Amino acid sequence: MVANHARKNAARGRRADAGGNHRQAVDAVRAEQDAELILFVPYPHPDLDGAAPCADCQGTGLGEDLYEHAYEKPLPDGAVALIMETFCGICLGCGRAAHDGCRPDTHATYEEDDLLDEWGEEEPAEVECFSCRGRTFNVTQGAGEETAESVEAHELLMARAAEHGFSEWDVRGAFAFGELDLMLGKGSTELAARADTTVWLRMPCGCREAASVTVRRDQLSEAMGR
Ligand SMILES: [Zn+2]
Ligand SMILES: [Zn+2]
Ligand SMILES: [Zn+2]
Repeated sequence: MVANHARKNAARGRRADAGGNHRQAVDAVRAEQDAELILFVPYPHPDLDGAAPCADCQGTGLGEDLYEHAYEKPLPDGAVALIMETFCGICLGCGRAAHDGCRPDTHATYEEDDLLDEWGEEEPAEVECFSCRGRTFNVTQGAGEETAESVEAHELLMARAAEHGFSEWDVRGAFAFGELDLMLGKGSTELAARADTTVWLRMPCGCREAASVTVRRDQLSEAMGR
């Protein structure tokens, strides 16, 4: 049950997506205009508590891509856009190789009843911030662009499906229910995750504003320690 929770939640997200398009196209960070000021909000990496780190993100819980949200007008300190980090598409944010002992609220796909379902814990009735309920960020799904890697993964996955006589539709269903490795062999779930261009964006909550940092675009990587 616990081992499968991230995928179960991914399935929920996918169903919501099929019902009405909750994903929005998102803009990758622009490299030009080096002197422009932009804002980011640092967060600590997930606590692995001795668990093996996810091989994809080395335990940071983050994806490589950054996106940005342009402000309608610059902030008082001159920042023109907010930088958003993405969660790792393989571990979905907990940073662990196996979903072993990770708290459900460390996943991008977390929903409010997960703490109760999986840990037998209620969320605290009183929280400091009602917008994020104490997580200090919210998660938004975005539609990222196809990459050479995502296209290749999709082709490899469809080749496996063809070998076994399954359609793309069958593959999507099995992926959503966490049964893809059973259907198409080990590594298929990972291929499907790589083929999927959905990005999970961390939207800093206003309650973490005090931690925000404004930097020039050309100093962003260094400031974020990337
Ligand atoms: Zn990861
Ligand atoms: Zn996990
Ligand atoms: Zn908040």
